[in-house]
Amino acid sequence: MLAVVIVLWHIGPDFYQCHLIGKDIIAMKKRVMIVGSGFRGFCDALHLLDNPDVEIHILDSAPFFGGVMHSLDIQGFSVDKGVHIFDSIPVALADVVTEIMDGQVHEIDFVSASAFNNKVTPGFSLPDLASLDDSAVKEKIRAELLALASNVPSTLAGTLQELFAQRYGRTAAEIFSAIFQKVYGISASEVEATAIAQTSMGRLKFLDDPDMLDLKKDPFLDTVLAARRKAVGKVDDFVSIYPSDGDAMKGWCNRAVGWLKSKGVRITLGQKITTIVETDANVTVHTDKDVFEVDTLIWSNDSLRALGAALDIPGDVDGHQYGTPMLFATLLTQADKVRDLTYLQNFDPDQLTYRSAASGRFSHQVRADGVSFVTCECPAEIGSAYWNDPESLGADVWAEIKELGVVDADAELVAADIKRIPVSFKLAKLGYADAFKTFHADVANRHDKVVLRDVVPFFRRDIYLDSAHLSELVA
Ligand SMILES: Cc1cc2nc3c(=O)[nH]c(=O)nc-3n(C[C@H](O)[C@H](O)[C@H](O)COP(=O)(O)OP(=O)(O)OC[C@H]3O[C@@H](n4cnc5c(N)ncnc54)[C@H](O)[C@@H]3O)c2cc1C
Repeated sequence: MLAVVIVLWHIGPDFYQCHLIGKDIIAMKKRVMIVGSGFRGFCDALHLLDNPDVEIHILDSAPFFGGVMHSLDIQGFSVDKGVHIFDSIPVALADVVTEIMDGQVHEIDFVSASAFNNKVTPGFSLPDLASLDDSAVKEKIRAELLALASNVPSTLAGTLQELFAQRYGRTAAEIFSAIFQKVYGISASEVEATAIAQTSMGRLKFLDDPDMLDLKKDPFLDTVLAARRKAVGKVDDFVSIYPSDGDAMKGWCNRAVGWLKSKGVRITLGQKITTIVETDANVTVHTDKDVFEVDTLIWSNDSLRALGAALDIPGDVDGHQYGTPMLFATLLTQADKVRDLTYLQNFDPDQLTYRSAASGRFSHQVRADGVSFVTCECPAEIGSAYWNDPESLGADVWAEIKELGVVDADAELVAADIKRIPVSFKLAKLGYADAFKTFHADVANRHDKVVLRDVVPFFRRDIYLDSAHLSELVA
């Protein structure tokens, strides 16, 4: 029979802790703090919710939930910072996203296009080398690829440039390296080969891929370098969805807060961690406003500088990343003048835009007067003429996306907003992997209640799958 139990409730808003005193001790819940409310923090919480013995607290230094998914407010529209879609996510995750949105999601059937060599190729999301004019260059690429197919290199590529050469031959590698430099603003010889996973070039087929080997039998070899999007992954297992309530990804972020709270998750935003002290008993987290005691802390963001400072562990892993600055243009125009296109990726090294998206259309944001918007991510060097005078970019980008067919030739530019984004994609410069390994080992050697994982997944699908392993680390 159960003994008499006294239950005391205490501690702060939205949070409770249950102390049980009596003859039969019932196990206390494990208090887990997740630091970071981006998609990684969300997925970590989601997987931990399966464990009824865990109490979850998400803490973020930003005043809003969702990290990079939290959209900007621009001229009355909710505008995602770049293209943000629940892209090729497992069905189980799509069900959760749909529940959070009260069913208000729609499936994205990607209508993509790519531009290369001043030609637009519909249906492609990669540079289409078939559009090269010089048949001698194409022939060289063909010969190099076939030579590689019969002699797959065994050494690991150190730089991205080496990886391109190993996979596609020297001629194609030069082309891809020039494209990479244009889009990401750094030479492929200065970043680690693993950086490919964070870029659209990660979708390029490569030699080990059986599909590609098969395609080699096809005389039109050039096209194998530009795999059609639907050929990537098993489409049936993954879906691509987007919120349809007209508030873009920000709407999802805000609803996720309510949903998590309804499940008992505590959320603290706008607090910066100053120190983390681990003892045999617990972890004490000091922020600029509060002190929290937890049993386990999970570092669910990529600011290792902040973690190092809080734990007093030296090292500058973040200094080995390149931030890829972008100028981000939101261009307002009549919705019916925007082509039926999810996005177009422009791989022409001498042009301004990288990715142009019909985001106003697919986020169901059209004003009563018929005005909606397109967005363009434009690589730009910090300190360049456009960077110093972003407003001057609007008209030039508008002319370019008309040429590219993102909007109709007679579309009118109603308004333009250009934002500077100093850090968009974070790419691993040479030395990053070693610095990360050392830092990770330092954290693991000194702390067993502070969890820093040794993988940093990029796409939402991979983040979700990686978070599934968290319960083993927290147990
Ligand atoms: C422009 C762009 C577009 C993308 N589009 C897609 C897409 O369409 N589909 C896709 O699958 N992936 C996309 N990605 C990849 C994207 O990075 C992931 O999908 C995911 O949203 C990242 O989540 P995250 O939690 O790792 O990082 P973030 O979203 O950056 O979240 C990290 C959070 O941690 C917080 N934080 C940082 N430091 C601290 C600290 N010291 N203390 C407390 N909190 C801290 C931050 O404030 C932030 O809220 C895109 C990435 C970029 C940059």
